[in-house]
Amino acid sequence: MPDAPPPIKATKKMKELMAGHFLGLDQAAREGRPKVAWCTSVGPAELLHAMGFAVYYPENHGALLGATRMATEVIPTANAAGYSPDICSYLTADVGAFLKGVTPLTQAYGIATVPKADVLVFNTNQCRDVEDWFAFYARHWNVPIVGVRSHRGLGEVKSHHVADVVAQFKDLIPTLERVSGNKFDLDRLRETVRLSKECTLRWRRVLELASRTPSPMTFFDHTIHMAPAVVLRGLPEAVEYYDLLLAEMDQRIADGVAAVPGERHRLYWEGMPVWGRLRMLSDLLSEAKAAVVASTYCNSWIFDAFDERDPFESMARAYLELFIVRDDEYKERYIHQWVERFGVKGVIFHDAKTCPNNSNNRYAMPQRLARNLGLSTLVLNGDLNDLRLFSDEQAKTNLEAFVEQMEELAA
Ligand code: SF4
Repeated sequence: MPDAPPPIKATKKMKELMAGHFLGLDQAAREGRPKVAWCTSVGPAELLHAMGFAVYYPENHGALLGATRMATEVIPTANAAGYSPDICSYLTADVGAFLKGVTPLTQAYGIATVPKADVLVFNTNQCRDVEDWFAFYARHWNVPIVGVRSHRGLGEVKSHHVADVVAQFKDLIPTLERVSGNKFDLDRLRETVRLSKECTLRWRRVLELASRTPSPMTFFDHTIHMAPAVVLRGLPEAVEYYDLLLAEMDQRIADGVAAVPGERHRLYWEGMPVWGRLRMLSDLLSEAKAAVVASTYCNSWIFDAFDERDPFESMARAYLELFIVRDDEYKERYIHQWVERFGVKGVIFHDAKTCPNNSNNRYAMPQRLARNLGLSTLVLNGDLNDLRLFSDEQAKTNLEAFVEQMEELAA
């Protein structure tokens, strides 16, 4: 059996960056300076950085609750407070943890609680749940909540969609000026958008390196190393981090290091990760010599449109052109391009029970992709955070059968 790949060395730097991010937010919240803005993961982070806020992403906290498997313990607390078990389990895990007074940040960094928001800024480009989620905290702390109500299900992104979102971004500014105590500065926004673009270019390159055979990284590595693109985009640290990671991955490729030793099958992951079972799924697929080389989820932090010469319009485009905002025809074309480029022969659709927005299997897309592109497809039932909705045994049986079927087709 070929050797397991060496651990990715850049992980140490990433852990330092994440510690700095959370400790900085904790300090800001305790000292009242800079002001803290909560932002949805694909929200207008560039505007918030440009206004001088410390920016916190509750979805990242939701993922931490999932990865540490605290989520399943705290979700019932949110359910008891009236938040349905059927809605986003990032929301229910996060609200449940807050009501219980616990957070994974305590064990990781000695931080007692999530940073209190001075303002909450949402973008419904991904779903409506984020607005309801932020509204809970706005009521609890009696702080302002503002946001963008986005278009959804778009085929082509048209100029009137962009103009509408630009107008909504600009409407945020008076509240952000009042809360931060800073005047809006267009040059600062240009610089933040430039840094986000630099981050995007590097993150895209990291993901594209997985098109190599064998792939130097898998989706499971990407879910870890995407953290700087999620929480530090718009800051120089994210750009520096991806330079470091890219140099290491280039070396891996030069040395012929495979993320999945003896790689035989190349897969695409469509949908949310199962945060509490990343290791189990990674090991299982690795043993079957199947490498998940690309995913919609990790691609969601590629924002090609950013352009500092036109920061508002390019931000609006970037946040409207995302996969999750688009119609099924666009999504199928998108998956087609990636599977073709990455030599993928099978697609795993994760049907995440509490996130219909990121579960694209429910309207026969797997059947269309199988028919039109000759791909093997599998629907894996589960959830991003609520492990009561995920069966280890069933996942194991289904994945093993899926890879066996691919093996037969390849023979
Ligand atoms: S897109 Fe899904 S996982 Fe993300 S916040 Fe919305 S419902 Fe939750």
